[in-house]
Amino acid sequence: MNGKTVIITGAGSGIGRAAALKFAQNGANVVISDINETTGRAAADEVEKAGGRALFVLADTSIPEDNERLTEAAVKHFGKLDCAVNNAGIGSIGKRTANYDISHWDKVISVNLSGVFYGMQPQLREMLKTGGGAIVNISSVLGVTAYPGSVAYIAAKHGVIGLTKTAAVEYAKGNIRVNAVGPGYTETPLLSRYDEEKRAATVARHPVGRLGKAEEIANLIYWLCSDEASFVTGAYYPADGGYTAW
Ligand code: NAD
Repeated sequence: MNGKTVIITGAGSGIGRAAALKFAQNGANVVISDINETTGRAAADEVEKAGGRALFVLADTSIPEDNERLTEAAVKHFGKLDCAVNNAGIGSIGKRTANYDISHWDKVISVNLSGVFYGMQPQLREMLKTGGGAIVNISSVLGVTAYPGSVAYIAAKHGVIGLTKTAAVEYAKGNIRVNAVGPGYTETPLLSRYDEEKRAATVARHPVGRLGKAEEIANLIYWLCSDEASFVTGAYYPADGGYTAW
């Protein structure tokens, strides 16, 4: 990854932040994007303190223009875009389908599904211009399974896999690889509202008997972006402690 440039959305926290550090440790220029300026800038500072190169861009993935501006900023600052990790996401509210709030449906779909589509558009155009690249979209174990009370999240994460496969097929000849990662439940602020009972039940669904660590997801993201994965495209890869094997 030496000298390559990666955009990571939602990199102010959790999996995105761990991925930013992983790429930086391996010599990449990291464009850290988040809707939260405080945590985004802190992540960029952390990367630079560790000896990496970082640029923070405040952007909301659910706004198409913000995604255009993000790719433009990455290219302007570092000269080229090689990789992108469309990671920003929000959780669900826990109501079953018949009573799921439509406003929440719209919000979750706009960030978790449309945000990935809006992100990929300028990323793909830029990579086509410069001869290729690699994109990783963050889905979830809930991108391939159901869970009551999370209809918007589940529809969005299933959709992310569809977007991934479509772009992979469309741009394979353009030397752009597009893959999806499906984390199992991972220790990040996204799970902070879980009480002890829900946490224990969630752990029990993972054959390994624990939740994931953000760094374990970051390792897979990094590998899929690297040349080691040169024949891997259009794939959904789980990093889920066996959740989807059960
Ligand atoms: P997190 O809450 O720790 O981090 C998400 C980041 O995205 C935050 O920094 C937040 O500010 C940012 N964000 C939210 N909305 C945004 C927007 N509209 N535009 C830009 N940034 C925005 O969560 P995480 O656990 O690190 O989740 C990262 C991704 O992994 C998400 O797509 C999530 O759905 C997925 N995922 C997480 C888990 C888990 O258990 N933690 C499991 C499966 C999939």
